[in-house]
Amino acid sequence: MTRESRASGRNAIGTLDRRACLACTAVALNASWLNACAADRPPVSARTQHMTVYGPTPSGAQLDAAEQYIVGTAQRLGVDPPAQIHYIWTDGISGLHTPCQGGGFADPGESRIESSMFPHYHELGHIVSAPLGRAPLMFVEGLAEHLSPVPDFRCTIDDVEGPFIVRPEWLPSRSFAAALRGSGPEAPRRLYVVVGVFTRLVIARYGLAAYLRFYRSLTFFSEPLEVRRAFLSATGATLDEAIARTRDANTQTL
Ligand SMILES: [Zn+2]
Repeated sequence: MTRESRASGRNAIGTLDRRACLACTAVALNASWLNACAADRPPVSARTQHMTVYGPTPSGAQLDAAEQYIVGTAQRLGVDPPAQIHYIWTDGISGLHTPCQGGGFADPGESRIESSMFPHYHELGHIVSAPLGRAPLMFVEGLAEHLSPVPDFRCTIDDVEGPFIVRPEWLPSRSFAAALRGSGPEAPRRLYVVVGVFTRLVIARYGLAAYLRFYRSLTFFSEPLEVRRAFLSATGATLDEAIARTRDANTQTL
């Protein structure tokens, strides 16, 4: 992430670089990384109904935007808002949480976010959606992307460079995690956009209620056969049909 994009995130919520929503790095996958990030929590700078902020002090507008997102997203998903999110804003704190600089992560178990941006809607989305359980990683990341507000934060299909391809081999969490770690043409930024747009297309076609039935019925470790069965049960369509239809949706604006 560039210095400019960090500055825009700090100073102007509505103009946060769109790439910000791509910065999350695989929720709580790497235990040693999490442990490294857990040290040296900075002082409390602000409190809201659902959040304690540590580090730099957000503006009132930033705090209001975060609160509205938390409450509105919980309502949209039919879950209770989290009792208290611990949001560690690392921007400008040199030498602190070094592994987490340049992006963010969410730890739903601890209701904790560390991010160089505020608010980081993608990471807040992970925490707010936690009561739904944890589906395989590509759906966890896809939902967090989908939940990021429009128009400034949410990535659209126009952001996908080249063919828009959802790969069925990403279904196991371990496989999508391996793809995220990869540095080839489908590096993390692109993968986040693809699964986010795919989630949006599926919800637009089959409805949020069906998607949430599908999501809730899975675990992080569900294997492809179980995922395919759950998708068919929840939507009446096959997952492979949904993926194929997505490939034909390149010109849609959602
Ligand atoms: Zn994420």
